[in-house]
Amino acid sequence: MTATDFDLITLGAGSGGGRASRMAAQMGRKVAVVEESRVGGTCVMRGCVPKKLLVMGAHFAEDFTDALGFGWSIGSFGFDWARLVASKNVELNRLETVYNRILRDNNVTLIEGRGRLADAHTVMVGGQALTAETILIATGGRPSLPDVPGIEFAVTSNEALDLMQLPERMVIVGGGYIAVEFAGIFNALGVKVTQVLRGDTVLRGFDQDVRATLAEEMVRKGIDLRCETVVHSIERTGRMYSVRLSGDETIETDLVLYATGRSPNSAGLGLERVGVALNERGAVVVDEYSRTSVENIWAVGDVTDRINLTPVAIAEAMAFVNTAFGGRPTAMEYDNIPSAVFCMPPIATVGLTEAEARRRHGCVDVYLSRFKPMRNTLSGRDERTMMKLIVERTSDRVLGVHMVGPDAPEIVQGFAVALKCGATKAQFDATIGIHPSAAEEFVTMRNKRPDSVAGEDA
Ligand code: FAD
Ligand code: NDP
Repeated sequence: MTATDFDLITLGAGSGGGRASRMAAQMGRKVAVVEESRVGGTCVMRGCVPKKLLVMGAHFAEDFTDALGFGWSIGSFGFDWARLVASKNVELNRLETVYNRILRDNNVTLIEGRGRLADAHTVMVGGQALTAETILIATGGRPSLPDVPGIEFAVTSNEALDLMQLPERMVIVGGGYIAVEFAGIFNALGVKVTQVLRGDTVLRGFDQDVRATLAEEMVRKGIDLRCETVVHSIERTGRMYSVRLSGDETIETDLVLYATGRSPNSAGLGLERVGVALNERGAVVVDEYSRTSVENIWAVGDVTDRINLTPVAIAEAMAFVNTAFGGRPTAMEYDNIPSAVFCMPPIATVGLTEAEARRRHGCVDVYLSRFKPMRNTLSGRDERTMMKLIVERTSDRVLGVHMVGPDAPEIVQGFAVALKCGATKAQFDATIGIHPSAAEEFVTMRNKRPDSVAGEDA
């Protein structure tokens, strides 16, 4: 083909697009990235980072109370939501500057505006046409709201991160990652939270013991969990909302937050016109190397709806760059991807759930431990930690590591390395614990759960 303006044009400067653009530029390619909102994307501006800052901020409510058991006397302490939101936004602005600088320092051209494809090699931004040999779609996703009467009164996680003031009462709809994380934040900050979900309990897809433990702790912390319940309508009365539920109950509330999943940002990009195949959910269909149905167009991250996590989008981006520009075809590996839910208490998990392990491997041994974390002996907090190991009986290989409890994300990250290396239960047992810690429980569990108890979720 004739000379193009760029070797690579990326649509979207989020986790996947930002990393791919920078890496390709570092390999000497001429790269432009088109971004319609803020560099950093969902994770940095509307997801992982602001959410975790709010989780940290909210956790102090428990920390102050727990301190009393350790001899502290605390005078009056108050909380200022507006100040937390403002501080969080200062940090997001700082990160945006850093991410912009990274692009600039790597000679990536940032083009501000909404990009769409005119043909397989041409991206239109405003009235400007830019051409490239290779195009990467990394446009992420957006909240997806069901068609319920009054849904226009609901907010999503985007707005919840920047509320002008804390409501007194809040209804959160959904039982997934975002719903449980935001329920934890707002409940800890004193909002009366009712969480409405259609499933039998929170976090479908997670291990059954994890789900049950979290639900129990959420209820203990005061969240009104309404399982197997759906919203029929939302009505506004003055500054309040009436949420009508199945069973004909109506809840009065000050805010309705919907966290009912996310949809890929693939509409209006001209994808179908150039022959890029989408699936029934609108996700860009790609092969194991993230190549779409059009030879020179690739896609990574949430727009492909594989595993929608930041480190996954980044890893897919690196695999794409190695394949397309590094002469090293690299397929992304999707097994043993750890993940955490920053609810209260937090969850972290790597590998298979008990049900998946039984389905795929037949006989498994389950080691499960529930205990009161040391801190709660003096704090008096009635919250238990749950740790679970799932082991393939024939090979002794550890197939799953699950934890609900303080520091779970920090603890399980290390065990993810062990699973990636194919560690056996004997190797876990031969590992010396760090004492006193909660983490040592993972290398000291010796009692198998009897087979008669197992299989609840199998
Ligand atoms: P994004 O980061 O969404 O980036 C896409 C970019 O494309 C955006 O900046 C968008 O503005 C831009 N764009 C879209 N269309 C166009 C266009 N036509 N032209 C130009 N630009 C365009 N993941 C974790 O791993 N851990 C967490 O704790 C976590 N917490 C989360 C909390 C929340 C509330 C949410 C919503 C998500 C969270 N995630 C978390 C998921 C994580 O944010 C995403 O998986 C990740 O951001 C996906 O990266 P991406 O590059 O695919 O897309
Ligand atoms: P999830 O897919 O995790 O959960 C969606 C929830 O909404 C489920 O409980 C689902 O129920 C429910 N739901 C879906 N459709 C409807 C409907 N029509 N009516 C009522 N309920 C409905 O999505 P989230 O929005 O919570 O998060 C999106 C993704 O972002 C996550 O899957 C994850 O990949 C990523 N994320 C990661 C985080 C982390 O790593 N800590 C944090 C936040 C987000 P059911 O289960 O019955 O289908």
